[in-house]
Amino acid sequence: MSSNPALPEKNVTTNDTTAPTTAAFETGRVGRIGIGPADRSETDATIGAFTDWLLAEEPHIAGFPGNLSFDYSRYGALLATLCNSVGDPGSPDASGVGGKTFERRILEFLTDFTRGDRDHTYGYLTSGASEANLFGLLTARTTLPRAPVYVTAATHYSVTKAARILRMDVVQVPMLADDTMDPGALAYRTAARRGGAIVVATTGTTMLGSTDDLPALRQAAAASGPVYVHVDGALGGWITPFEAGVSVSDFSAGADSIALSAHKWPGHPLPTGIALARRHLVSAVAAGEYIGATDHTMACSRSGTAAVILWAALRGLGYHGLRRMTENALAVAEHLHTRLTALGLGAQRHGITVSFALPPSHAGWDALRARWHLPAQHRGGVLLTHVITVPHLGYGQVDELADDVAAVLARNGGAR
Ligand SMILES: *Cc1c(COP(=O)(O)O)cnc(C)c1O
Repeated sequence: MSSNPALPEKNVTTNDTTAPTTAAFETGRVGRIGIGPADRSETDATIGAFTDWLLAEEPHIAGFPGNLSFDYSRYGALLATLCNSVGDPGSPDASGVGGKTFERRILEFLTDFTRGDRDHTYGYLTSGASEANLFGLLTARTTLPRAPVYVTAATHYSVTKAARILRMDVVQVPMLADDTMDPGALAYRTAARRGGAIVVATTGTTMLGSTDDLPALRQAAAASGPVYVHVDGALGGWITPFEAGVSVSDFSAGADSIALSAHKWPGHPLPTGIALARRHLVSAVAAGEYIGATDHTMACSRSGTAAVILWAALRGLGYHGLRRMTENALAVAEHLHTRLTALGLGAQRHGITVSFALPPSHAGWDALRARWHLPAQHRGGVLLTHVITVPHLGYGQVDELADDVAAVLARNGGAR
């Protein structure tokens, strides 16, 4: 990280997170793998109990951004075989048992959704937004081999991890009060270096859910030469297209590559993401002779089962379904924001993320965070947390959560 002492750095410690002890499926309930076969009925009973436990926790999973309101168990028969996609989605492979036909339908829809050009956009299904960020940075590095990567303290750690894997220089840019990258500070930092800039713009920052102003960042970095913008839109990339008054960081706004997560939104039982990039920027080097396909992906095998399920999810929703799902979640978030504000808390809402803070010493605060699976981060003497109103959280649950917050405040002498 390089930082310029002439500019004040916002004091944010992203690594200093505190996880309260949440309920867990105890180790003792999961039998050891021995030298011989275990009793089948015991194994089945363990998995049954674990599944019940996971499903029972769902209504209280309020702090993590994955929609859990789905049930694809009717496609359970897919688990009786391997569906493995190898190589580019557009390239037939020798094995032929992948889910590429489904994957291509998904990519066609999401290219339109991100306002890309179907003929000039490359993409594939990843294991999550993290792998899609790695793919985005590889494409950036191929395009601008000597340019540093500009991030903020709020950039997801998978981006800095990818930069480390690719041995790219990382420059941390100060943020504005809502955790977005400060375009003025980016201009200041990029002006000092030639050779272009790789800017990572986040749509839906992990803690506050705020969205970077992509055109402003692109313009701010222009003095250093050519600019590549990668958009990390893991969750927010699905939300902002339907939100009034929020800038959309898509291809038409100047993105060169985009990462989305599918287990966050629309929801998926397997961790899945989508990598998209302007096709002419993707590395010309394609591996994969043995598999009989060209391959620009980060892996060899990837889950075709995940593609089939995501296709079913998106086909079941369509564009209007995604809009309805988003608008409902935004309304629930707004309701929670109103409730917390009425309690005297300085709550913030960005998209479907509602954040608020309490002093770490407040009695009952740990238990509340454990009950609702809320992450936490120390900032300026308080413990910041958030609720993400994914579809499995309705008005009833966020009201119950707000009541719990009110009880903690009452116990500690009212709002701070
Ligand atoms: C969740 C998240 C990621 C990581 O996504 P995975 O799909 O879990 O790999 C990356 N960036 C942002 C902004 C996120 O919120």
